[in-house]
Amino acid sequence: MTSDQTFVIVGAGLAGAKAVETLRTEGFEGRLVLIGSEAERPYERPPLSKEYLRGEAGREQVYVHDEGFYAANDIELRLGATAVGLDTSAREVALGDGERLRYDRLLLATGAEPRRLSIPGAELDGVLYLRSVEDSDALRRRLDRGGRVVVIGAGWIGAEVAASARQRGLDVTVLDPMAVPLERVLGSEVGAVYRDIHTDHGVRMLLGTGVEAFEGTASVERVRTSDGRRLECDFVVVGVGVQPRTGLAARAGIAIDNGILVDEQLQTGAAAVFAAGDVANAQHRFYGERIRVEHWDNALHQGPLAARAMLGQADSYDRLPYFFSDQYDVGMEYSGFARSWDRVVFRGDPATREFIVFWIAEDRVVAGMNVGIWDVSDPIRRLIRERIAVTERDLGDPDIALALLAPT
Ligand SMILES: Cc1cc2nc3c(=O)[nH]c(=O)nc-3n(C[C@H](O)[C@H](O)[C@H](O)COP(=O)(O)OP(=O)(O)OC[C@H]3O[C@@H](n4cnc5c(N)ncnc54)[C@H](O)[C@@H]3O)c2cc1C
Repeated sequence: MTSDQTFVIVGAGLAGAKAVETLRTEGFEGRLVLIGSEAERPYERPPLSKEYLRGEAGREQVYVHDEGFYAANDIELRLGATAVGLDTSAREVALGDGERLRYDRLLLATGAEPRRLSIPGAELDGVLYLRSVEDSDALRRRLDRGGRVVVIGAGWIGAEVAASARQRGLDVTVLDPMAVPLERVLGSEVGAVYRDIHTDHGVRMLLGTGVEAFEGTASVERVRTSDGRRLECDFVVVGVGVQPRTGLAARAGIAIDNGILVDEQLQTGAAAVFAAGDVANAQHRFYGERIRVEHWDNALHQGPLAARAMLGQADSYDRLPYFFSDQYDVGMEYSGFARSWDRVVFRGDPATREFIVFWIAEDRVVAGMNVGIWDVSDPIRRLIRERIAVTERDLGDPDIALALLAPT
């Protein structure tokens, strides 16, 4: 049916890789082109701040597919190629080398990129960011040399890098203007648990403190803080969030607002153009609003859904957001999505680092996080999705199985 058509995917990250895989498994027989700016075939980013960064996992362990997958499935994988232009009326994508590719369906899976600091000294050598496997290699070489690192930003990337650097024996200082790490997502009570985890591992947490400048002659030697301190260091890692890579879509006139705006089928306002993964601000059936999720699980599932939508299969994206993080020996999973909440309820003592915490809004669980406890994501998701009424007492009582509170 579609063997004379061309589907083009821009962005060879997880979302793009899962989309081409799904197109072939769903029987698409036409021409399939996957375009990626990076030199590497699609890989997973979570290990880049964890086991890969620490040198405990090798390059082969991060790839989404084995090397022969793309050729075996007749997928034209164009690496080191950047889509620089998009003409949605002519249905053409322009590559950096001047080639123009005509498409019948286009998926934009261009991901996100780190926000850059523009403060004095930002251009000094030794001020590092982390998004790509190349960035992780460069950071690993710094960890190998040891010394003192200042991490700017106590979000997920900053917190994981701080943990990995401590695990490699470096002297680590974390700076963040918020009062506790991860405050934006977890709030102050749960963020405080993560502050204590890092402090217990010997990280100096300078919270409520911003960065004013980096100082040094050629390389960064000092960080000047908002409260006037000067922190001597050998290098700096900046983790102050990411922004969706929307330039290509925006220049083509596709509607953008905190990402590429897409409907429940991940279709943009332009005919035959879809978007998925970190770059997509997608209408979510369960939440009844658009949300943009910057997590692995979202790219893993939106890629396939976009592929099916490109084939005309009407599916809606309504998976609850989910993410995980590993810091030291503390692993966690978070399910749900909470912009605001009334209170949090702990099940178990956070000091033991084996507990579950629920975020409650209007007497319903809107998000849950299990730390050091496994196989509970399903009942947590049911509590959220089915908006099950449950008392705080039951929720907080570890002797009452979650499966009883949220039966199947
Ligand atoms: C260090 C690190 C650790 C992480 N850890 C976790 C974790 O523990 N848990 C979790 O849930 N999530 C984690 N994440 C987030 C997760 O990796 C992302 O949500 C996921 O990578 C998003 O996938 P994506 O395919 O949408 O975008 P990306 O992975 O950003 O891939 C997009 C690709 O498109 C390419 N591209 C962009 N524009 C163009 C263009 N014009 N032409 C050609 N190619 C283009 C880019 O070069 C990139 O390779 C982590 C991210 C990082 C960086």
